[in-house]
Amino acid sequence: MRAGQSMPPMEFVRLLDEAAGLDGVIAIHSTARGPAAGGCRLWSYPDAASVMADAFRLAEGMSYKNAMAELPFGGGKAVLRRPAGEFDRQALFEAFGKAVQQLEGRYITAEDVGTSVADMEYAGRHTRNVAGRSARPGFAGGDPSPWTALGVFEAMKAAARFRFESALSGMTVAVLGVGSVGGELCRLLAEAGARLMIADIDGPRCDRLSDEFGARIVSVEGIADVEAEVFAPCALGGALDEATVATLRARVVCGAANNQLAALHIAEMLVERGIAYAPDYVVNAGGIINVSAEYLGESAGDVRGRVMRIGPRTYAVLEEAAHTGLSPSIVADRMAERLMLQPAA
Ligand code: NAD
Repeated sequence: MRAGQSMPPMEFVRLLDEAAGLDGVIAIHSTARGPAAGGCRLWSYPDAASVMADAFRLAEGMSYKNAMAELPFGGGKAVLRRPAGEFDRQALFEAFGKAVQQLEGRYITAEDVGTSVADMEYAGRHTRNVAGRSARPGFAGGDPSPWTALGVFEAMKAAARFRFESALSGMTVAVLGVGSVGGELCRLLAEAGARLMIADIDGPRCDRLSDEFGARIVSVEGIADVEAEVFAPCALGGALDEATVATLRARVVCGAANNQLAALHIAEMLVERGIAYAPDYVVNAGGIINVSAEYLGESAGDVRGRVMRIGPRTYAVLEEAAHTGLSPSIVADRMAERLMLQPAA
């Protein structure tokens, strides 16, 4: 556990079907709120120990994220070793679907890094316990990125209100990574009257957004140093390291990227510098909310209702951090730990 409460031990289920190329584990971290939910990662790992380590870390992370989003799910993750060379995806994911089915609903899968909607369709031939499939008309589903962006936007509004007692209109937001989520976030921010500075390794993408929203393009190396009220990391993890935080001028950090803190002590550094950090997994839950709603057969309206709660939740985390002197990351972890031990309401 990250902040110290006791939990049942992590359960690992070994997956092995040599003929189908299936080799990996399903890790189940918590089930008090409901079935353990978390995607299926397919990646090249050097050995079984690194598969276990990744599955542990990712399943634990899903418990925090699902609980904090108040979803009726615990946390779990499937981690599969990518077979060397060419392989038969249909055979592999059908075998994976059969393994998920054997858990009789204790684990619910979806796509993650290295897996696709098509893979989940193969798995879904053998189990109902799969989300992230093709969207059905009238139901939630499909691309989660716009929902993730909306959640980040709501969290950012709340964090700006907390830190500056002001709306985002007229503020400058520096966005690092303007892909599916970052690009949509730029649209929402432009509509809200914010000024945009953007950086991405994809130059043409930056040019498009600059034309569309009048965003100023800056270098990837320089984006954290620009004069801006808010910094939004929306590329890869680890954007907040010692060097970046030492020179960061923004007083709010709020973005979509997972695992933004390069190390745990960075959370304290942000507190010392007076920077309000909106914890990543609180802010970027829109995607998992959408995937869960698809699994539960809910509507887009249900998704919107849950996503709109991300703003007040972010504000509550920042407020409690200010009152207790703890970092927002620790406050969020403790809130999530209380929630993950309770059945969902
Ligand atoms: P994406 O691949 O569509 O966009 C990522 C962008 O970051 C791309 O434009 C890419 O060119 C850019 N990028 C990559 N490396 C970079 C670097 N070193 N410097 C600058 N830019 C770089 O991904 P996305 O779906 O928009 O997700 C963005 C982040 O949000 C990821 O960390 C992802 O894990 C996280 N996230 C996404 C969702 C979702 O619903 N898509 C949900 C939760 C969290």
